[in-house]
Amino acid sequence: MTQPQLSIVLPLFNEVENLNALYEVLKPVVDDLSNGSYEILFVDDGSRDGSFDLVKALHLKNSKVKGISFARNFGHQTALLAGLQQAKGDLVVTMDADLQHPPEVIKVLYQKYQEGFDIVNTRRLDVEGVSWFKKVSSKYYYIFLNYLSDIPIEPAAADFRLMNRKAVEAYLSLPERSRFTRGLISWMGFRQAIVDYKAHARFAGQSKYSLIKMLRFGLDGIVSFSSRPLRLSFYVGLIAFILGAIYAAFAIIQFFQGKNVPGWTSIQVTLLIIGGTLLLSMGIIGEYVARIFNEVKRRPHYFIKETIGQ
Ligand code: UDP
Ligand code: MG
Repeated sequence: MTQPQLSIVLPLFNEVENLNALYEVLKPVVDDLSNGSYEILFVDDGSRDGSFDLVKALHLKNSKVKGISFARNFGHQTALLAGLQQAKGDLVVTMDADLQHPPEVIKVLYQKYQEGFDIVNTRRLDVEGVSWFKKVSSKYYYIFLNYLSDIPIEPAAADFRLMNRKAVEAYLSLPERSRFTRGLISWMGFRQAIVDYKAHARFAGQSKYSLIKMLRFGLDGIVSFSSRPLRLSFYVGLIAFILGAIYAAFAIIQFFQGKNVPGWTSIQVTLLIIGGTLLLSMGIIGEYVARIFNEVKRRPHYFIKETIGQ
């Protein structure tokens, strides 16, 4: 069997302090595994710190380093998609560019591939230097997501995985724009394995996932993989309606009994409950409608400003 060509896809956003260190650790591992038949593909997600200049410099040193630069920040999941679309290898590994995904683990992913798996996912055992808030919110988010969703989604999963060509093509054939990659991969099937790894702290810089980006990512996961919130809002609305009807009957009886007490508290409580339920349900519907709108617009996922080595 000939050596399969290996593509490493690295989305990055303002990672100028990490790129050289990452390259130094990554290159020997990849060189060794693929006997020199590899490409390292950086997808610059609209960095403003000169990250792409560094990618160009790395390309001059080693022509197997390639790069795509987005016209603006389109988001991590979109950068992953672009990388998978452009990668030419028989095997594609996606990983973060901040050294949180240790390059040595690629060897373990490769072993699993040789055992006959199409997709090798990873699960982080523990993360150094991650805030208490991120750990707790992520843990409960995945419990909630798994409760809502029909397909299982591994809680500590990362977008650090190996896919063979067959799996990459299958992934690329999915038409949707809202890309919660780890959910889509789980949904796809094929022979999948999980490898545990110990995540390091970021080599340099701060997390590029702001609270807003995390929230958007989290909502995407829920809305793409479950329609249960829509049904849930129906039930919550139904319960509020029944309670409201009982209370209305009670109020009418009181009216005919002439016990017309000034009902400030009860009116407030009813208004708040019903108003809150309505707004909540509308918000949930809004999230789905916004995504339908986004899908029907059929805009391109991203624009490329510049490429190097492609
Ligand atoms: N990233 C990206 N676009 C973004 C945010 C992040 O390409 O809008 C990249 C980032 O440079 C890194 C990877 O996605 O290579 C994971 O992001 P980060 O390390 O900030 O997330 P965390 O590890 O804190 O969850
Ligand atoms: Mg990180």
